[in-house]
Amino acid sequence: MFTFVLLNVILFYFSLRNVIYSISKNYLKTKILQTTKEIYLLAIESSCDDTGAAVLHNDTVLSNIIANQDIHAEYGGVVPELASRAHQQNIVPVVHRALQKANIGKNQLSAIVFTKGPGLLGSLLVGTSFAKSMAQALNIPLLSVNHMQAHVLAHFINDDAQQKPEFPFLCLTISGGHTQIVKVNSHLDMEILGETLDDAVGECYDKSAKILGLDYPGGPLIDKLAQKGNPDAFAFPKPKVDGLDFSFSGLKTSILYFVQKETAKNPLFIEEHIEDICASIQKRIVSILMDKLEKAVKQTGITQVAIAGGVSANSEIRKQLKDKENDGWTTYIPKFEYTTDNAAMIGIVGYYKLLNNDIDDVKTVATARLSVEDK
Ligand code: ADP
Ligand code: MG
Repeated sequence: MFTFVLLNVILFYFSLRNVIYSISKNYLKTKILQTTKEIYLLAIESSCDDTGAAVLHNDTVLSNIIANQDIHAEYGGVVPELASRAHQQNIVPVVHRALQKANIGKNQLSAIVFTKGPGLLGSLLVGTSFAKSMAQALNIPLLSVNHMQAHVLAHFINDDAQQKPEFPFLCLTISGGHTQIVKVNSHLDMEILGETLDDAVGECYDKSAKILGLDYPGGPLIDKLAQKGNPDAFAFPKPKVDGLDFSFSGLKTSILYFVQKETAKNPLFIEEHIEDICASIQKRIVSILMDKLEKAVKQTGITQVAIAGGVSANSEIRKQLKDKENDGWTTYIPKFEYTTDNAAMIGIVGYYKLLNNDIDDVKTVATARLSVEDK
């Protein structure tokens, strides 16, 4: 009898809680729609090893602050536990600076936006908990964002230095954790046409850099050294992968074996040829990406092509994509500060979600695995 009563009390509590959630969610929706013209968003990004906070006025960025975590450099890659601890230390000052730089008070904010996933769960939890608490304390809507959609929608940030693509368009998203070709039908409707079967392209850059004794993250260093080297000095194999999918782990292994073989013959091989090795690695990586992109354009007939993600900062991919304008493509290259992880791109997704009335509540949870096709 006691158990029965207890169960009923628990059930009553949960139904009452759901009713309160839904009333407050609808109240917030109405409140926000009345003021749609003047939206001020605070966006938080904490999916991997960069703590970011940005303030947006509608689709315009007022501030975009990032605290990089140098601690991972000595390990040659991101250490998840250290990343979440550093996020905890960084998040309050980073948010404070973003508001200060934007000259916006907490009470002027219309909503809080945060990265829900994909990413490292411990890191995501820091941003998620912070965003939920702040939205609740200010009694404003909470918007969760898919990090992969954010890389793509970075192109829609209102900025003189970049153009907004027209739908449908293709986006090659290349980062430390992902490599995919996405067909973008609308702001929040995306379809994967091909993706990596193993390592991501950024991972291939970073692991190759580690083999060469360069610091983490190695992508920008290889890019810099490659510009002074001969791209035809060494030939690395091209992976044979069907359709629009990619593979980078075989290339990484072949770079390792090549360097081991050459340093066995000459211990100074890396030192003497670093620029040529980097240029040759870069040539192969970019040719893999461009070949698949050309195939995707042929298959879909879509000639509006964008690149996004950390590796889209790469000088060679930017150059080769731009050159495709001669073949009738319309290309979209993001501003440097919107390529690697940042909170401004999280804010722009929040902006479109808010216009769509797609708001979340405190029950929203961080998700380590999330596809660009997921909400
Ligand atoms: P993730 O979202 O997976 O954490 P980011 O979008 O922040 O990754 O991208 C980080 C990746 O981008 C790293 O692997 C880094 O080496 C790579 N990267 C950054 N700049 C360049 C560059 N100029 N050339 C090649 N790779 C780069
Ligand atoms: Mg990213």
